[in-house]
Amino acid sequence: MSALAEIASRGGSLGRAAAAFRAALAGARLGQTYLVFGPTGAGKMEVARALAAAASCVDPREGDACGRCNACLAGTRGAEADLSVLAPAEGKREILIDQVREACAMLALAPMVGRARVLVVDGADLLREEAANAFLKTLEEPPGRALVILLTARPEAVLPTIRSRALEVRLAGRGAAAEAAPPMIEAAARALLEPGGDPFERAGRAAAALERAAADDEREGATRPEKLRRAHLAALDLVLARLRERFRGRAREGRPVLGDEAAIDRALLAAERIEKNATPKLVLEVLALDLDEALAPC
Ligand SMILES: [Zn+2]
Repeated sequence: MSALAEIASRGGSLGRAAAAFRAALAGARLGQTYLVFGPTGAGKMEVARALAAAASCVDPREGDACGRCNACLAGTRGAEADLSVLAPAEGKREILIDQVREACAMLALAPMVGRARVLVVDGADLLREEAANAFLKTLEEPPGRALVILLTARPEAVLPTIRSRALEVRLAGRGAAAEAAPPMIEAAARALLEPGGDPFERAGRAAAALERAAADDEREGATRPEKLRRAHLAALDLVLARLRERFRGRAREGRPVLGDEAAIDRALLAAERIEKNATPKLVLEVLALDLDEALAPC
């Protein structure tokens, strides 16, 4: 697991967020509720886990986990007793009220080994009204040694009652990389966004391009499925960047953007599915169909 200092050294918005968390911890001015948002692959969970470790550490060094105390050692063994992660149950598309109640009850208990109880909500946009309401009391008056880290790729879909109670931390995607995307990633994104034609044929072309992108990926220590997944996520990032550009352009011109919003939504969902290890080919086919429908001229 990466420590805050290591993440901070990478620079960019993720690095800046890690450095800010570290400084806040060192200065004993860390907030109790954060909303960390940014696109898929921006590093939300990674920085949340590093922050959780640093906040729990019994003997922190300049705001970072020491790596040696009982809390840190439990963490390296993967037994983070004071950390809970709240996410939709298998097959569900939202976080249920009972899950929230249970998580809040845990949060109210004294930490078992470390200095803080930490709750990471993976998908703050999946807290719908009932579940969100069950959460409000905890967010309004967090138990003394509790830290809540909300994560989302869709901050606009987080209920205002939740959002207004959290300190916001924005992570940029690899937007800069989008301009210099490898040709095969670029080709895949273009195939997916191409208007007209057979969506299955376009998805097939995108899949073939991404197979080649994965074959060209020379980074060490990654298995082939990982490289393939990375290529898919990069292509989807690029698709999202293009869709957002289109959305902004149309909004400026006062043209309808409902379809563009739907398209962005579908692309985010596709990235989520890839992250959850869905079959890449199927994800691309569904996305090509969805984009056709969302972007069809009316
Ligand atoms: Zn420690």
